[in-house]
Amino acid sequence: MSEDKKMDLTEETARKWLHERGVEIQDIADLVYYLQEKYHPDLQMEECVLNVERVLSKREVQNAILTGIQLDIFAEKGLMEEPLQSIVGSDEGLYGVDEVLAFSIVNVYGSIGFTNYGYIDKMKPGILKDLNDKSSGKCHTFLDDIVGAIAAAASSRLAHRVAHTE
Ligand SMILES: [Mg+2]
Repeated sequence: MSEDKKMDLTEETARKWLHERGVEIQDIADLVYYLQEKYHPDLQMEECVLNVERVLSKREVQNAILTGIQLDIFAEKGLMEEPLQSIVGSDEGLYGVDEVLAFSIVNVYGSIGFTNYGYIDKMKPGILKDLNDKSSGKCHTFLDDIVGAIAAAASSRLAHRVAHTE
């Protein structure tokens, strides 16, 4: 496979898997709006969408999405070895590797991302609340952190851009 083809396939698959796991671009843009509206009174939703799109176009972000969702699916199907199956399957609080994977996304647009990520992870607004609903029978141990991280990174990107134009 040529490098170009592989790149397209990676992005295409990352976007497809997000959709299949119940996460739309708009859901993530809503999180960005939630994080940024208090700082930018004129904030437009389309700006939030655009910044999410830019984050999703980064290769390291796509790699984190694919890896995290793949692990969630394995856990959901009971395909992991113990003790990992129980740990990931039950979203054990002290596991922490889901957050470490998400940091590779948060990192992309600098350190404001970490503050945003911590905040949104604590508040769990919108889609994050749905992903954390254990009664769904789905496993989103990795995906909730990934989605929060994409929103945090997109917020940082947006904040940096606004700072530059002001
Ligand atoms: Mg998690």
